[in-house]
Amino acid sequence: MFELSFPPELEFFRDVVKEFVEKEVIPVAEEIDSKEYVPMKLVRRLGELGILSLPAPSEYGGADLGEVGYAIALEEIGKVSNSIATIVGAQIGLVVNPLWIFGTEEQKEKYLVALTSKGKIGAFGLTEPNAGSDAASIQTTAVRDGDEFILNGGKIFTTNAGIADIFIVFAVTDPSRGVRGGITSFIVEKGFPGFKVGVEEKKLGIRGTSTAELIFNNCRVPEENVLGGIGNGFKVALTTLDGGRGTLSACALGQAEGILEKMVHFVRFRGKLDGKTLHNQMIQWRIADTAMEVEASKYLVYQTVSLVDEYYKLLASKKHVSRDFRERLSRKTAIAKAYVSEVATRAMERALQIFGFLGYLEGLGIERMYRDSIITEIYEGTNEIQRWIIARDIIFRGMNEKKED
Ligand SMILES: Cc1cc2nc3c(=O)[nH]c(=O)nc-3n(C[C@H](O)[C@H](O)[C@H](O)COP(=O)(O)OP(=O)(O)OC[C@H]3O[C@@H](n4cnc5c(N)ncnc54)[C@H](O)[C@@H]3O)c2cc1C
Repeated sequence: MFELSFPPELEFFRDVVKEFVEKEVIPVAEEIDSKEYVPMKLVRRLGELGILSLPAPSEYGGADLGEVGYAIALEEIGKVSNSIATIVGAQIGLVVNPLWIFGTEEQKEKYLVALTSKGKIGAFGLTEPNAGSDAASIQTTAVRDGDEFILNGGKIFTTNAGIADIFIVFAVTDPSRGVRGGITSFIVEKGFPGFKVGVEEKKLGIRGTSTAELIFNNCRVPEENVLGGIGNGFKVALTTLDGGRGTLSACALGQAEGILEKMVHFVRFRGKLDGKTLHNQMIQWRIADTAMEVEASKYLVYQTVSLVDEYYKLLASKKHVSRDFRERLSRKTAIAKAYVSEVATRAMERALQIFGFLGYLEGLGIERMYRDSIITEIYEGTNEIQRWIIARDIIFRGMNEKKED
């Protein structure tokens, strides 16, 4: 076998996504970047095809294709448009997944089904002006008032904010307890009084996505909208990001594969014209280096994603997950996210050099893919933070024999 193999239903699903990308994503990929808009017609199509809820169980209207199905979609879409892949990733990785893992039966019936079957869009608000990498420093507060919580504060850089109906947000409910019991996650609906979406950010890349502030001004949220239990918000956030960044590596893999394909096309075309490009060793090496890294990334990505799939299924079925498993998973997803996002960045840089001035021009896709790709090194935890997770685990795990489970 020269290629990774997948079960027939996932191979079939990959073909479906490829056809969709060919017919519906490629035609808008440049325009949504240059005109900076979210293509809502395409977003609705993603919903109709089930792509916005792939791992969710079928009993809640999901496609039940697990994290591997979700990764396949990110990889195929990522080859062409990181904007569209980011919309899918923010919806599934950051909202659908925590809902089916941590949601109560009522929350799943109401919110998960709305996301899987009623065309609703989700967003996840954790980051604040003083709490990016250091998410434990969030300052948004939620104060209990009878059977409601009153939220005050705000979030920044929330993907999908301008198009979302359902928001998972994090607030401090007990400042004395910090991350161990002091933070709670809430499900907030678009129309809740006291909640509004702020201004849209202008960005270097993924310009076909909405990124905006969330503002809470005495926003009342019923207690039944607490996700994962009062005081468990940091656990919800970390579990979401630990797994999410693993599957996100599939998107980076797609970006690297997509640009490699463009490099090869270009070199063959140019080579036919000038008879030289094909034999230029520096060009060949750039292609060979990218091919080596893509090949290695494929195995890393799908092994990691399979582990995330196992992890989430254990959590959703309320089975015990050992601390050892969680820590290994966390290291593995950090490695996949940091390594493959940097593979994508290096591939983009090589492509720009190979294409020369054509790579630098707007409209041909290379400069857009270059700008779009960099974000994967930043969101869901920067690559510096991933290196910290990896090193901390390698150095310290096992040093203290008595660890709580
Ligand atoms: C387009 C976009 C979309 C986003 N979408 C979302 C979203 O949907 N939801 C959400 O909650 N957030 C979102 N974010 C926020 C994103 O997750 C944060 O930007 C990211 O976690 C980094 O936080 P920061 O920007 O505050 O940088 P900072 O934390 O201020 O970091 C600045 C620099 O310092 C480095 N650094 C910080 N701490 C350390 C350390 N301990 N060791 C070494 N280096 C360190 C960082 O790696 C970085 O290079 C989005 C951001 C962008 C740009």
